[in-house]
Amino acid sequence: MKRNISEDKDEHIPYFVLSSGNRLSKKQFIRYFEKKVLYAISKYDLINPYQKIAVACSGGKDSMALLYLLNNICKERRKKLVAIMIEEGITNNYRKDMIPVVQKFCKENDIELILLSFKKEFRFGLEEIAKKIRKLGITNCYVCSILKRWLMNKKALELNIEAIATAHSLDDEAESIMLNLLKGNPELLGKLGPVSGISSKKDKGFSQRIKPFYLCSTKEIVAYCKALNLPIPTKKVATCPMRGETFRVEIRNWLAKMEDEQNHKEIKNALVSSFLKMMPMLKEQYKKKTFNKCKKCGFPASQEICKTCELLSKLKK
Ligand SMILES: [Zn+2]
Repeated sequence: MKRNISEDKDEHIPYFVLSSGNRLSKKQFIRYFEKKVLYAISKYDLINPYQKIAVACSGGKDSMALLYLLNNICKERRKKLVAIMIEEGITNNYRKDMIPVVQKFCKENDIELILLSFKKEFRFGLEEIAKKIRKLGITNCYVCSILKRWLMNKKALELNIEAIATAHSLDDEAESIMLNLLKGNPELLGKLGPVSGISSKKDKGFSQRIKPFYLCSTKEIVAYCKALNLPIPTKKVATCPMRGETFRVEIRNWLAKMEDEQNHKEIKNALVSSFLKMMPMLKEQYKKKTFNKCKKCGFPASQEICKTCELLSKLKK
């Protein structure tokens, strides 16, 4: 369902100013943003190879914008789109409270919503295992991301979903590039990009991850949400209450400081475009020729037991 847009009353005040200095009205900005997303989709072939695509929906503004826009694009191209949302069992019903808004949005826009939960799948919510996580010397974010990825992949295979779209922005990608560079993880660096992973689309056992907002900044995504008046499910807290002060957050703050205070407006763009030039070499270098099957869950693994099953056995001890 396309949304109606009303222009601001005072046409002399621009809705959005691009880093080039170009001043855009609300309608011009929406056109600019959607064109940018369509450009990324066509340049990196993000949609054409697939018939059934899922949007990983966190309930945050980025994923609502992605759900809205990708749903319209998939309808035009006669592709099936579903939304997947995972309730992790985070403190203060952080995610749980977002579910009704997403449900309403999906119903109004005729999108099938698949709701999953850690509790149902693993028999614990994230909050219940927080102490154990601390004892193991790892972070909540690490555990959460590994379990979510595994669960999402499992559901995707069950439902013949070929690709999972995430709302990763240019800012997120710039952070990940810096993070893996500074941690000395070139192999993980090779997994980034508009289509994540270093395996090919033909590899069985993986659903491809695609990032249609790859070239859009977080500021642009927020402005797009506001321009279309998209529902934002939470007004409580902008960030997850179980997120620790991780290295990623330090990098995020540093990049923001460089961008705003030091006036290096283009550093995130420069980081991502430099990475895109190196990406083919990295993917080739770290391409996996063969995969084992995890002896516990049957998913692709680099060892006998996959990372998720190994983590689960430690958490259940
Ligand atoms: Zn496994």
